[in-house]
Amino acid sequence: MVLPDEELELKRGSEAEEQVERLTPEETKEVEALGAVVREDEKPEPGKMKIDLHCHTEYSSDCATPISLIPARCQSTGIRVQAITDHNEIEGARLLKQRVEDTMDPQDLTIIVGEEVSTTEGEIIGLFLVEQIPAGLSPEDTVKAIKEQGGLVVLPHGFDPLKRFRLKPTALERVIDEIDIIETFNARISNLKWNQAAVEWAQAHGVLMSAGTDAHRLSDIGTAWAEVPYRSIHHPEQLLDALKDGVPAGIWVHPALAFLYKSWDRTLRRLKLRK
Ligand SMILES: [Zn+2]
Repeated sequence: MVLPDEELELKRGSEAEEQVERLTPEETKEVEALGAVVREDEKPEPGKMKIDLHCHTEYSSDCATPISLIPARCQSTGIRVQAITDHNEIEGARLLKQRVEDTMDPQDLTIIVGEEVSTTEGEIIGLFLVEQIPAGLSPEDTVKAIKEQGGLVVLPHGFDPLKRFRLKPTALERVIDEIDIIETFNARISNLKWNQAAVEWAQAHGVLMSAGTDAHRLSDIGTAWAEVPYRSIHHPEQLLDALKDGVPAGIWVHPALAFLYKSWDRTLRRLKLRK
């Protein structure tokens, strides 16, 4: 029987939850051998906080999450800084940022205005945007438009060949020097090795790593995060600084296995940043 995507995703999600509880000692060993750490407790360590740099809302054509429900979901899952990255659109992010600033304590939640831009050769995320970037530009022009307004360039789900809209490898080679952050943990990746490939690439190129839920449903928010030192993040430099001591982590959902996962913190300490 073929299930529609949404139903299949729900089914996998609930199976995954059961599997997290049922992971045997052997499975735990197997997971740890892949470089992951099974975490019982999702709370950040003292002095740390969780941030998510990739999330969609009702302002994306393939997502129905009302922006009004996002602050409460962030709070219940412990996300303190949430980037909103709708497809080719920043209006929802702007509105939510304003609403959060008007009604909440900045200690509780900060919204970063972002956009997942469809370039002619795949997707690139811009963060801290003021102006919307049009879809359909070349990767070079997209990156230029992000930088011109002081934004940061993030490479989302970069190494999963099953992600249809990933930035093409040949395009990545051309804009490599302009990438500020790479998403090395993506909860919906098809195989753990693609996250691992992203980590290796980040290390080889001295690029900061982060995590993104790529949330298309409210319940996805909180399934991936970077754990960073507790601090205010209102400007690009503050985010880059926080990520230097960050650890990407999350719940990797896989048809056969799901676990809480914390990636490569020891290796991260050895990472030589190019900036
Ligand atoms: Zn996305």
